[in-house]
Formats: sequence, structure tokens, C-alpha cells
Amino acid sequence: MAGKCPNADCRSEVGRLVCEKVPVVEDGSEVEAGVLLLCPHCRTILGAAMDPREFTDDMIREIGERIDRITR
Ligand SMILES: [Zn+2]
Repeated sequence: MAGKCPNADCRSEVGRLVCEKVPVVEDGSEVEAGVLLLCPHCRTILGAAMDPREFTDDMIREIGERIDRITR
């Protein structure tokens, strides 16, 4: 069963979310990529998170660098 959008003017069933990539800013500078999870009917923000793809890329890069340091 799908949940309902909390926006009083919408109240539509939310069977899927729209994902929108946004920059995450800390102390005035862009640090990471985040995603907003939006109602597909009215685009109310239902959630926000760090972009998991960005996070995975960073983790793979970090692991690669550590392996490189160990094997040198
Ligand atoms: Zn809505």
C-alpha cells in the first residue's frame, strides 16, 4: 500500500518518488552531492539523503589509494 503525500493541497498516493540531485554545501562550499526525494505529483520534498552513487565512488577511490600505499 502506498503512503500519502503530506502536502494538504496534494494528498496523492505516493507509489514512487522522484529523485533530484542537489549539491550539499558546508560553510559556503560545495562538499558532496545529495538527492531530494520528491512527491511525483506536487514535488513536495519527502526526504533528503546523500547521493549513494557519489558515496560509492568516493569509497572506491579511497580503498584504491590505501591499497596503493600498502603495496608500494
Ligand atoms: Zn504531493
